[in-house]
Amino acid sequence: MKTMTLHHNEIHKGPLILINHDYHYIDNHDLELEQQQILLEKRTLNLYHHILDDINGERVIIPVSGYRTFQQQKDIYEKSLQDNGNEWTSQYVALPGHSEHQSGYAIDVTLADTPINLICPHFTQHSICDNFQQRALQYGFIQRYTKEKEVITHIKEEPWHFRYVGIPHAVYMVENNLCLEEYIEEIKHYHIYHPLHYMFQNRLFSIFYVPSSQENVHLTFNDDTVYQVSGNNVDGFIVTIWRAYV
Ligand SMILES: [Zn+2]
Repeated sequence: MKTMTLHHNEIHKGPLILINHDYHYIDNHDLELEQQQILLEKRTLNLYHHILDDINGERVIIPVSGYRTFQQQKDIYEKSLQDNGNEWTSQYVALPGHSEHQSGYAIDVTLADTPINLICPHFTQHSICDNFQQRALQYGFIQRYTKEKEVITHIKEEPWHFRYVGIPHAVYMVENNLCLEEYIEEIKHYHIYHPLHYMFQNRLFSIFYVPSSQENVHLTFNDDTVYQVSGNNVDGFIVTIWRAYV
């Protein structure tokens, strides 16, 4: 048996952290960034290039924006306030500290043959956009801001903004029409003795929520259990167990 220890301050780390108008990003000093055309969290960057490879998209799709520091987000926000005013800016630009781009898990992409627009890149009305979106989903990326969920996310539809949350979470969210805010709430219904079971790519996943407390939380698993843990940036952890092929 092996024991996993969850530390309270780690609820702010991992690909399932919720960053929005209510929950700001808290600096993660373990964040591994890597640059290849664009600066992103290492795994997110690697998977992004896999998506492009799969759809032959290297020359058609280019990254516009990846990781940003707090200061960079602040500069973008203030510039947009000057150029576009308060109402428009609040609909498209996250407040400094509240941008997913600060986590390294978010990327904005644009079609290569369109003029670069840093805040609203052009990424619609081309079949390659649909191909990218569908392939990205298989790698664990969601279109984070959709029209339907604007009232929940408080951000206008952004077809160009993709957020890495990992598999099978991304696919479950799309199949069940949940945005990240809703998914975080949904998973709270599941716990270690009553996990969410979900089949994806011939694997059985068990997903459950662990509330954080000021004390460290210990979970015990069999030695051969493969699992991943992410904080939700709200109040706990989401544990994902990968079962053997079935
Ligand atoms: Zn973005």
